[in-house]
Amino acid sequence: MTERIIPIADARYDAGIPSVPARAYAPAGVLSDVRGRAVRDLRISVTDRCNFRCSYCMPRTVFGKDYRFLPHTSLLRFEEITRLVRIFAAHGVEKVRLTGGEPLLRRNLESLIEMLSAVRTVRDTPLELTLTTNASLLARKARALKAAGLQRVTVSLDALDDAIFREMNSVDFPVADVLAGIDAAAAAGLAPIKINMVVKRGVNDGEIVTMARRFRGSGHVLRFIEYMDVGASNGWRLDDVVPSAEVVRRIHEWFPLEPLAGGYFGEVAKRWRYADGSGEIGVISSVTQPFCASCTRARLSTEGKLFTCLFATAGHDLRALLRGDYSDDQISGALAHLWERRDDRYSEIRSDATRGLRRVEMSYIGG
Ligand code: SF4
Repeated sequence: MTERIIPIADARYDAGIPSVPARAYAPAGVLSDVRGRAVRDLRISVTDRCNFRCSYCMPRTVFGKDYRFLPHTSLLRFEEITRLVRIFAAHGVEKVRLTGGEPLLRRNLESLIEMLSAVRTVRDTPLELTLTTNASLLARKARALKAAGLQRVTVSLDALDDAIFREMNSVDFPVADVLAGIDAAAAAGLAPIKINMVVKRGVNDGEIVTMARRFRGSGHVLRFIEYMDVGASNGWRLDDVVPSAEVVRRIHEWFPLEPLAGGYFGEVAKRWRYADGSGEIGVISSVTQPFCASCTRARLSTEGKLFTCLFATAGHDLRALLRGDYSDDQISGALAHLWERRDDRYSEIRSDATRGLRRVEMSYIGG
């Protein structure tokens, strides 16, 4: 008899309503937390639904056919998302990443992208608008997304071998269609394209060099992500993690690599270039080389709850303020009040003691 795992959707609701400071708060274009990390990067989950069941994010045993996804009425409307993004931008946010679940499942997403592409940063420039997708719908939508104002995409692809791909994602979706989505995105000008591979020992680590060979010289940037203990349902074990140092070593044996300097404060990937000039790769090492010291990311759930860390156990209900009788200045003050007290550094403190924490699911707040 298979063990029935209780859906941990309940964790979605651990979100208090932020307090609104009595004094009006004028955003200063930069908003830093207790560790001096200024909020710069906002990740917005536009749906908690997905058509894949990646074992490290949305295992089928939890997100099965009886799983209750959020009703549409509880999702933030596009106008509400845009209003929040404008408030975040006034505090210095420059980059918005649309995530999910699978963001391309959200109907009329192009309309939201059009609205967001009109928002300006404090430097009076357009926001950097990106999206992370499993590419299952990308071939069909790439041109419309570009036309709406999207600048680039990140595609999740964990293997080139169909059987291994299926094992990682528990869906009968052919790799060829993901590759077609990548080609369509490139043809539409949604570049540079980043390709994210989550590496799990004993499952797809045999594909590391195969993936490097496939995308070397393609102009796309392949990034290897250490398998993480996100959420509370993927059965994470440290033994299943392939440290990034090992990933680099394996590739270097075939295609010599050289370290590249970091691009900007808050960049998650460590960059390496192929010595023969045929491009670069990245490694994202939340487990073995934490990068909390430069974490400038805030995450907004599909229902408008703010999470200040990917491994948070509770959020802050901004939707209640949006749908309450609060002005932008008041919401801006509440946001500042929250962020200024942020001291998240989960990856630095990950240990046996943190194992049992009921972390919010990645599929709910986006990667
Ligand atoms: S663990 Fe939390 S604080 Fe650290 S880098 Fe990840 S999201 Fe940021």
